[in-house]
Amino acid sequence: MKTKHPNVIAIDGTSASGKSTNAKLVAKALGYVYVDTGAMYRTLAWYCLSNRIDFHDAKAVATACRKWKTKLECVDAKVRLTVDGYYPEKEIRLVEVSVAVSMIAAVPKVREWMKKTQRDCIQFGNLVMEGRDIGTNVFPETDYKYYLDAHLEERTKRRVAEGVNENLAARDQRDSQRAAAPLMIALGAKVINNSNMTSEQTSGLLIKDIQARLKADGR
Ligand code: C5P
Repeated sequence: MKTKHPNVIAIDGTSASGKSTNAKLVAKALGYVYVDTGAMYRTLAWYCLSNRIDFHDAKAVATACRKWKTKLECVDAKVRLTVDGYYPEKEIRLVEVSVAVSMIAAVPKVREWMKKTQRDCIQFGNLVMEGRDIGTNVFPETDYKYYLDAHLEERTKRRVAEGVNENLAARDQRDSQRAAAPLMIALGAKVINNSNMTSEQTSGLLIKDIQARLKADGR
């Protein structure tokens, strides 16, 4: 008998394009486990800042990533990465972490480690995983790939409404131009520009499309 592999829904896209909000809503509607891969990169950036490791020094960052003591946990159907038993939920959203994160995310050894760790999340069951390279690099074999985007002005507005003032264009540029697994639209991904859509509309569209495709695939 053929064993069924868990389903993976890959949601990639630019910064503040609504990935987190919509991925969470999709995961809830489908009863899947939610994985925020950006949070994992942010955790490494926070770890480097906390331990005075220069985030511009690729070698030092790669060494830290090889040595840090982490664990994957699934709490309330959400995956979290802990470091020395601690989950830095609030700290990883600080502006200094947002500034450092795309630098550490460009380090090839870091991306290798992240890919392996993110693929290990399959142990928790069916996944909705959001990030920048899920459909292209982490789970390229999945049939369920989506790419979210919105105009820069709209995305900046959304962050400001959350109380965050950040140069999103600079981060997008670093994420799109790095050599290792850059941000790009995966082959076969459905692109949704949600500039003029609410999260109810975006998630509704995603849920309907995923459910129809899962049904058609007999999954
Ligand atoms: O999604 P979020 O804005 O929290 O991601 C933070 C940063 O982590 C991104 O700007 C990017 O540099 C990096 N990242 C990545 N690949 C992923 C997820 C996030 O390079 N799959």
